[in-house]
Formats: sequence, structure tokens, C-alpha cells
Amino acid sequence: MRTNLLNFDAEGLEGYVAQLGEPRFRARQLLRWVHQRGASEFAQMTDLAKSLRGALAAVAEVRAPQVVGDSVAPDGTRKWLVKVDGANAVECVFIPESGRGTLCVSSQAGCVLDCAFCATGKQGFNRNLSSAEIIGQLWLARNALRDADAAGAAAAPAPRAISNVVMMGMGEPLLNLDQLLPALRLMLDDNAYGLSRRRVTVSTAGVVPGMDRLREECPVALAVSLHAPDDALRDRLVPLNRKYPLRELLAACNRYLERAPRDFITFEYVMLDGVNDSDAHARALAGIARSVHSKFNLIPFNPFSDTAFRRSPAERIRRFAEILQRAGVTVTTRKTRGDGIDAACGQLAGDVSDRTRRTSATRRLRPAAELNA
Ligand code: SAH
Repeated sequence: MRTNLLNFDAEGLEGYVAQLGEPRFRARQLLRWVHQRGASEFAQMTDLAKSLRGALAAVAEVRAPQVVGDSVAPDGTRKWLVKVDGANAVECVFIPESGRGTLCVSSQAGCVLDCAFCATGKQGFNRNLSSAEIIGQLWLARNALRDADAAGAAAAPAPRAISNVVMMGMGEPLLNLDQLLPALRLMLDDNAYGLSRRRVTVSTAGVVPGMDRLREECPVALAVSLHAPDDALRDRLVPLNRKYPLRELLAACNRYLERAPRDFITFEYVMLDGVNDSDAHARALAGIARSVHSKFNLIPFNPFSDTAFRRSPAERIRRFAEILQRAGVTVTTRKTRGDGIDAACGQLAGDVSDRTRRTSATRRLRPAAELNA
């Protein structure tokens, strides 16, 4: 089997070219070809010695996952369904906004966490994505957006460059850190995607040991899916809370801030009608906000088939935000994007054909011991 160069960050690639008997600086050239220019054929890499091009062509490859679906919503949001193997496909979404373009990337096929309101959790967990499959989503999205530009779509008002990456697609990134870290390093590497640490966000349901390790190894911006102000409610919505309750989670947030490139944590909070959206919930959250330097991002719930939850009414969300603001909390409400192509937060289900299906009748909260953090 050929070695897929998308699996290597700079250091990994240096090691690989050294094994081929080449000087280490070749790795930098290769990185630029593969990640800056989006090349996949070694024959294109004209500043590499012909002998090296030949040697690489014999043993290596640049293989991103295969795009099997590509849809664009009226608001310009674009969603790719990418096949990672015979049984699994994951989703990746580009969200153009004025002044920035955000790519939402998946880290796992399925998810073990089974948050009550999330479509991904319903399909069960299938497997971790490799580094190549994670960075491959960025690689192929950037190439596809460049192709669209070349085809003349550049006249469109929305930006087509990827300025931000959020690990908010399918899966729990901090349960796949070994594969995630090389991909994050490539996002930040000036010879690859050159994004600043503030423009790369990892979102977690609250995997405390993973937060500590990310802080040591690659402290990018951190978003934490809070969704409830107390353990009793959070245990129901985010079963992982039984393993890492709020007290421990908030302590880990403060440890993270010692190294964070932004001096705040983004707390995500899905607005569920009649469940976590009362005035009392908002006031309790304000208390949490006082204990961690943070900003709140309210996410109107995005429905999917087979869910009993409903989105909080707009007026309720406005009032909830107002209570937080009056208490001195910085709060934004996420705009719903990608309507019509099921591309909004929590709607990414991909296509995992041999998954262990969970139906609502059989869904249950997983005992914490089952969660292999
Ligand atoms: N596992 C990570 C990242 C994936 S989900 C995490 O939990 O943070 C990205 C965000 O979308 C999380 O805040 C998640 O709670 C939220 N989300 C999940 N399902 C949703 C839904 N149906 N509507 C709105 N947001 C949802």
C-alpha cells in the first residue's frame, strides 16, 4: 500500500523524506505543493528533482477522501458528503459570511457521545477518521472552492476562501486527538494552510483529559458545548457530563485559558423549547460565566427526523440573550445556515451504512463508564 502523504504534518513528512534518503528541506517543498497548491500528482511538482518525483510516485500518494455528494443552499452554504471507506461517509460544510469563510470539519464517522439533541449521535459510533481524512476535508474543500472561482463564480458576493476552520462537524474531536493533532498542525503551518490559532476552533462536549492535552500540544481556540447550567439537566442532554460533571469541566476551562490563544472559552448553548431556555436557566448561566472568562453562542436547535425536541421561539431566544447580556455576558446567537440541505449544526449525519442504528425507542443514556475518553 502506498503511503498517503496527507497523514503527515511537517515533522512527519521530514521523517518520511529522510527515510527516502532526501534532505529534510524537501519536506517543506512537498508541503507547499500538496497543501498550498492543492497538488496531488508528483509529476506536477517541478522544483523537486526528477529522481525524487519518480521515487515518490512509486511508494507514496496524496489521497483525499472521495466526494460523493455536493450541494449548495440558497444562502451559499455548501456541503460535501465525503466517502472515507466502503461503509462510511462524513460531511463537511463551507459557510460563507461577509468577511470570512468558515469550514466545518468532521473528526469521526458517527459519535459515541449520544447527546440527546444531535443527529450524529443517533447513528452510533463507527470509527475515528485518520489525519489524512481530517485534513483531506480542508484540502478538497479548498480545491473545490478554487475550481468554482476559476469557473467564473468569483463574481458572487460571498467570500470563497477558507479563513476559519471549526471542528464542529460529526464526531467528538477530543476523543480522536492522536489523529486530530497532525491535522491541526497542518492548519497552522505557514507552509500548509497558515491559519492563526484564533481561527482554528476545536469544539468539545467536555472531554476533560482531552482539553488538558490539547492545551499542552496545540492550544487553538476552544468551544465547549455547555447546553445546561446544572448537572441534573446536563446529565440528560450531554451524557458525558456523568463522567466529567460541570465542576470539573469548568476547572478544565480555566486551566485551558492559561495557554489559550484567545483569552476566553466559547460556550455553545443549543436552545431547546421548554427544556433549557427559561429565565432561571439564563440567570444560572450568568453565574457560570462569572467563573470562566467566556462568551456565549446560542444555537437555535436544528430539527431532524425522529426528534422530540423543538427550537425555542425567536422571542424566547431574544429574551434569554438579553438576560445574559444584562448580567455582563457577551452573547451571540448563531444564524441558521444551510437550510434546505440539512447542513446546520447537529444535522450532519453522513452515511454510515453498517452503523449500529439507534432508534428513539432504544435510545438510552450511556453509562459514563462506557465512554472511552
Ligand atoms: N462533539 C463536539 C463537536 C460537534 S457538534 C461538541 O459536542 O462540541 C457542534 C455543535 O453543534 C455542538 O455544540 C453541538 O452540541 C451542537 N449541536 C448538536 N446537535 C444540534 C442540533 N440539532 N441543533 C443545534 N446544535 C446542535
